[in-house]
This record gives sequence, structure tokens and C-alpha cells, in this order.
Amino acid sequence: MRLTTRTNLATRILMACAENPDRLLKTAEVATLCNCSINHTAHVVQRLHTEGYVSTLRGRSGGFLLALPPEKVSIGAVFRLFEADIPFAECFDPATNTCPLSSSCRLKRYIERALDAFYHELDMVTLRDLVQGNCGLSALLTLRPEVPDSCVR
Ligand code: SF4
Repeated sequence: MRLTTRTNLATRILMACAENPDRLLKTAEVATLCNCSINHTAHVVQRLHTEGYVSTLRGRSGGFLLALPPEKVSIGAVFRLFEADIPFAECFDPATNTCPLSSSCRLKRYIERALDAFYHELDMVTLRDLVQGNCGLSALLTLRPEVPDSCVR
């Protein structure tokens, strides 16, 4: 099992937003923070914008920022959003399925249950859980020069 790059990138972008709550982020700087191409980052930011996770401001001084409080961002929902259109196994998409075992396969049901358990775990995680008090992450993603107060020892 492997997450798609865009799902992983979506969570990295959301973490970058949460670590810079009072700042409009540029696609290029987030691409650098997330070690991804500008094009790929822009595509994922656009999807996050369409789905209401980030707000954008166009123009030279524009950028994007988190549109929701971090505690309202379910990581499970983000994963479902970005993984939803890719069938986990061939038989999960009846339109393209050619598996000869489909009519009698028991494995599909077990995979479905495993996926339900996977998403159930992530449904209990919010963006706040990923960033709050995470000084190591702040050091990696915060663009403001000073260290957050909560991370000063
Ligand atoms: S073997 Fe079973 S789980 Fe795998 S694609 Fe075929 S029907 Fe689906």
C-alpha cells in the first residue's frame, strides 16, 4: 500500500499553512518546503482551494492560507478526497474491472474492511494534532524568523 504523492503533498501543504497561520504563502516557497515541483504544488493547492481548505488571494502579493481552523481539518477527510478516484484494487472500479475472480473473490471484502479501519484511524486525527506543540515541524516549516513562543525552552 502506498499513498499517492498528491495526498502526501496535500498534507504537507496543510501543515505548512498551519505552521504559518498569519502569512500568505507562495506556491514556490511551499514547493521548496515540501520538496516538490511548483506545478504539482500549484495543482494540489488549487484542489485544496476548490474544496474549501485554503483561501487564495491573486496578484503579485497574493498567496494562500488555511481557510479553516486546524482542529476542523480532518486528515481522514483529506486522504479520502485525494485518494477517492483511484481504486485500491482493480475490482473496486466496476467500469474497468477485468479481474476473472471477481464473482467469487472473498479478498475484496477483507480489503474493504482494512481500508475502513485505515480511514477510521485517520478520521480521528486533525491538522491540529499534527502541528500543535511540534517544535521540530515548526523549525522545518515556519517561515517567520522567530521561533514560536511555545517552542522556546
Ligand atoms: S483478486 Fe479479488 S480483490 Fe483482487 S482484484 Fe480480483 S476480485 Fe478484487
